[in-house]
Amino acid sequence: MANIQATIGREEGLHRLKVSTGTKEFVIGAPQSVPNSVSRSHCSLSVDFSDDASRSVTMIRINNLNIQNVTYVDGQEIDSRQIGEHAVVKLGIERYTLNLKQLINSMKLLLPAPPPQEYSIAYLSKVWQEYDEAKLKISEDSVRSANKQRLQGLLSMFGVGAGFIPGIDETVRLGIIVAAILIGLYFFVKGASGTTIQKKMHDLDEEFRKRYVCPNPDCRHFVGMIPYDVLSQNKNCPYCKCRYKEGKM
Ligand SMILES: [Zn+2]
Repeated sequence: MANIQATIGREEGLHRLKVSTGTKEFVIGAPQSVPNSVSRSHCSLSVDFSDDASRSVTMIRINNLNIQNVTYVDGQEIDSRQIGEHAVVKLGIERYTLNLKQLINSMKLLLPAPPPQEYSIAYLSKVWQEYDEAKLKISEDSVRSANKQRLQGLLSMFGVGAGFIPGIDETVRLGIIVAAILIGLYFFVKGASGTTIQKKMHDLDEEFRKRYVCPNPDCRHFVGMIPYDVLSQNKNCPYCKCRYKEGKM
């Protein structure tokens, strides 16, 4: 819980609404907008804000600071009261309306940035490992396919060569040539898998980019082609600044 207390009153000279917290002072409204019946230190506000990123208001208390001041909440004169965010607060006998929403928003800006959210990146370890293994398998497949193409070349040469071997039976010669053509044809069709490997790699990368993301549900930014070991040494998401931790989610 974060708390801010402010003293509210009329600014000397320009007669705007002056707000003083322990450390800062600011004014609200146009010159001459605050009547004389609002004193220099008219009332005080104590506002509690939640600790999370939303910094929502959890409590507001208003105090009339002097017996000669008049402070109204929802039409009733008060000394000290806990009020809601939508309460109608009027100051002085001329009933100057306090813009409570604007005032609270201005006070909220004085708060330090909330502590960053912390998320586990443990599951990214699995995502990286799976990606790494799948990539290895695809590159092994591609080596295998290149070897097959080399074999095809050899067999075709053998088939052509068989056409020139003297003294073998013509049926056998024809058989060898036909077999070499058929095998060559088979590998020619299979050879089309070279493009499949590229597609597989592309699909794998796409899938990886969708899964290797910041664990903050409000961020979900792809963290990059960074091995998990390196990633786990980065303590923050570069996009949303949430903190990474390695433990269970
Ligand atoms: Zn993030």
